[in-house]
Amino acid sequence: MTMPAPAAASVRNGNDVPEPLFAGVELGGTKTIAVIGQGGKILDRVTIPTTRPAETLAATAEQLRSWYREHRPAALGVASFGPIALNARHGEYGHMLSTPKEGWSGAAIVGPLVEVMPVPVALHTDVTAAALAEGRWGAARGVSDFVYVTIGTGIGMGVVAGGRPVTGRMHPEAGHLRVRRMAGDGFAGNCPFHGDCLEGLAAGPAIAARTGTSANKLSPEDPAWIPVADALAEGMVSLFLTLSCERVIVGGGVGVGQPHLLALVRDRIGEKLAGYLPDMDEATLRAMIVHAEMGADAGPLGTLELAALARG
Ligand code: ADP
Ligand code: ZN
Repeated sequence: MTMPAPAAASVRNGNDVPEPLFAGVELGGTKTIAVIGQGGKILDRVTIPTTRPAETLAATAEQLRSWYREHRPAALGVASFGPIALNARHGEYGHMLSTPKEGWSGAAIVGPLVEVMPVPVALHTDVTAAALAEGRWGAARGVSDFVYVTIGTGIGMGVVAGGRPVTGRMHPEAGHLRVRRMAGDGFAGNCPFHGDCLEGLAAGPAIAARTGTSANKLSPEDPAWIPVADALAEGMVSLFLTLSCERVIVGGGVGVGQPHLLALVRDRIGEKLAGYLPDMDEATLRAMIVHAEMGADAGPLGTLELAALARG
C-alpha cells in the first residue's frame, strides 16, 4: 500500500521549511482526545470515552497505530488528568498515581501508547498542556515565565519557567496553596484534604457549597464573589513572589464564565503586596492577569506543543 501524503504537508514555517507532524493524546476524566497536527493546526482528531484504562488506552493506541503507519509523526505529546508520575527518575514514571477514579490507580499511561508509536514522547498534566498552548498561540505568547490557572471543578495550575514546563518531583499542585483567609469569612472550605486551601475556597464546588447556588447561576453582584476573589488574589500573590512570573492566564468554567472575577482579584493584589513590587500597578496587573484565549482546543493543541518539546 502506498503511504498517503500527510494532509497538510504544505504547512510551512516562516523559513519555508515544512513543519513537522506531531501526535498528541489528552486523557481527560470523561473523554480522551487523540490528535495529529502540524504547525498548530489539528489535521485529524478522534474522541474516545474515558472508561476503564485498558479499554480507553487500547482504543487510543489503535488510532495512534494507524497514524504512525500513515504519517510517521516526529514525536508524541501526552497530557493527562492526575495525579500522574511525570519525573523520569520516579519509579512509577508514566503511570497514574493513587486516584479515586475507579480502576485508574497505577495504570500505565505512556507504555501502551509508545508501544504502537515508537517516537520521542513527552508527558505532562492536562493543565500544563493548556499552559503550553497559551504560551505558543494564546494569552502568554512571547512570555517565558507564566502560570496557567484553571478554576473549574478544582483549581489546577500549569507552571512554565524559562519556557519549559515545571515538573519537579511530581508536578506543581498550587491549587492547594494554603491561602490566608479573608477577615470575617466564616466558610470552612470544602477541600477534602485541607478545608480552606485555595481550591477549597474558590473552585466551582466551593462556591456552590458557600452559597447553595451553582457557581454559574450566581449573579456577578453577589457578595460571595468577594471572598472567592480574595482567596484567588492570595494565591496569585504567592505565585508572583515565588516564581516572579510575568503573566497569569486564567481559564476553566469559573475563570472564563465569570469575566467580572479578574477585576475583583486584581483589585485585591495591590493591598496584599502592600507596596512590595511597586511596579505592579493597576495597568500592569491588567496586562499580567488575563483570561485564557485558546478555548476548548487548548489541551489538544498543548499535546502537540509537548510533542515539539519531546523532539527538542
Ligand atoms: P472541569 O474543571 O471539570 O474540567 P469546568 O472547567 O467546566 O470543568 O468547571 C466546572 C465548574 O465550573 C463547575 O463547578 C461549574 O459550576 C462551574 N462553571 C461552569 N460554567 C460556569 C460559569 N459560566 N460561571 C461560573 N461557574 C461556572
Ligand atoms: Zn486542598
